[in-house]
Amino acid sequence: MKNLKLPFTKKQIEEIAKKHPTPFHIYDEKAIIENAKNLYNKFDWIDGFKNYFAVKANPNPHLIKILKENKMGVDCSSLTELLIAEKLGFSGDEIMFSSNDTDYIEFKKAYELGAIINLDDISHISILEKNAGVPNIICFRYNPGSLRKNKGNQLIGNPEDAKYGCTRNQLFEGYRIMRDKGVKRFGLHTMIVSNELNKNALAETAEMLFDLVIEISKKLDIKFEFINLGGGIGIPYKPDDVQVDLDFVSGEIKKLYVEKIVKNGFDPLRIIMENGRMVTGPYGYLVTRVIHTKDTYKKYIGVDASMANLMRPGMYGAYHHETVLGKEDNPNTETYDVVGSLCENNDKFAIDRKLPKIEIGDNIVIHDAGAHGHSMGFNYNGKLRSAELLLRTDGSVKLIRRAETIEDYFATLDFKNL
Ligand SMILES: *Cc1c(COP(=O)(O)O)cnc(C)c1O
Repeated sequence: MKNLKLPFTKKQIEEIAKKHPTPFHIYDEKAIIENAKNLYNKFDWIDGFKNYFAVKANPNPHLIKILKENKMGVDCSSLTELLIAEKLGFSGDEIMFSSNDTDYIEFKKAYELGAIINLDDISHISILEKNAGVPNIICFRYNPGSLRKNKGNQLIGNPEDAKYGCTRNQLFEGYRIMRDKGVKRFGLHTMIVSNELNKNALAETAEMLFDLVIEISKKLDIKFEFINLGGGIGIPYKPDDVQVDLDFVSGEIKKLYVEKIVKNGFDPLRIIMENGRMVTGPYGYLVTRVIHTKDTYKKYIGVDASMANLMRPGMYGAYHHETVLGKEDNPNTETYDVVGSLCENNDKFAIDRKLPKIEIGDNIVIHDAGAHGHSMGFNYNGKLRSAELLLRTDGSVKLIRRAETIEDYFATLDFKNL
C-alpha cells in the first residue's frame, strides 16, 4: 500500500507559505536519503552497482548533490543536463549519456566529459567519431522490438513502436564496428518499461541482456563491463498500488546472474540502472491553495497551481493522490474536479475525486510530484514556474529554486523592435 503520511503538518505549510507563496514544490530530504541508501543496500551483492539518476526527472542541483553524496551517478540526455552534471562535479564513468535524436554538440560535450556514451542508433557512430572522437568505452541501446515476450507498458509503448534503440542485428554490427576502431570497454543498455510496478519486469530485462552479453561476447570476442537495465521502476501513485519489492527483484536478478554470467565465466559484469522516478518521485509534493469553488454541471475546486506546474494528469490522465491539509480525517463526502486556470479543459489535477468538503483558502497537497513534476513545467498561458523548497533533515526549509518572475518571462521577448 502507498504511504499517505506527509512529512509536514498543516501549520508548518501555513508558516512556509507566508514566506514562499503557493504554489510550490517541496521535497523531503530525509526520505530521499533513506530511499537512496535502501536502493544501494538491496543490490549490495553487485560489485560496482550504481544508479545513474535520470536528470530529466528532477534537474535541481540541490537534490542531485544529495544523490551524489549517496553514491549515485547521473544519466543525461541533453547538453543542458550534461552542463548541470559538470557544474556538480560529475565526470567520466559517473555520467551516462543516454540520448536519442542527438545533436552533434551534445556528443561533443559528453565526449569531453568522458561520459559513458550510450548510442541510440548505429548511424550515430560516424557522427560521434567525426565531431568528437572514438571513446574508450561505448554502450548501445537495444530495442528488442517483437522479440520481447512481454510487451512494454503504456508510458513507453510497445518496443516495436518505440523510437528508441537499435535492432538486434544493428547491435552486433555496432559492437563489431567499435571493436574494430579499437574500443576495449563495452556496456549494453535497454529501457523497455516506465513506471513499471510488475516485480518480474526488471529480472526479465536482466535475463534478456545477460543472454545478449553472452552471445555478442562469443561472436565478436569482446568483453562486456556492464549492463544497464534503464530506469522505469514504478512508484505507487494510487493508494492501493503496491511498491515494487526490491528484495525480490534483487534476488531474481542474482539467481540469473549466477546461472548465466558466473557459471559461463562472464563475470565480473557490473549491473547499473538509471532510475529517476523511484528516486525522488514519492518525496516531492506540489502544494497549492484553493482560490475558487464552482458549482455548475459538476463541482469544481479551482487551485492556484495548474498543469504548467505538474502536467502528468493533463498529459497522461495520470493519478496523483491529493490531501486536503487539516482535513485528513474528514469523510470524503464530495465529488470534485480539481482544476487549474489554463484555458485547456484537460488542466485538471483530479476528475470526479472523492474528497472532504473543501473551502476557499484550504491548502491541497498533490503527492508524488518529485519526479517528472516541476521538470516538465512549461509557460503556456504565461504561467510562471513555481519555487522549489527543500525540507531539510533538521526540519528547516531551504529555497532551492526561486519562483519565476514576470521579468524572467519577458526576458526573451523583444518589445523594442516591433
Ligand atoms: C526517462 C528515462 C529514464 C528514467 O526513467 P524513470 O521512469 O524516471 O525511472 C532513464 N533512462 C532513460 C534513457 C530515460 O529516457
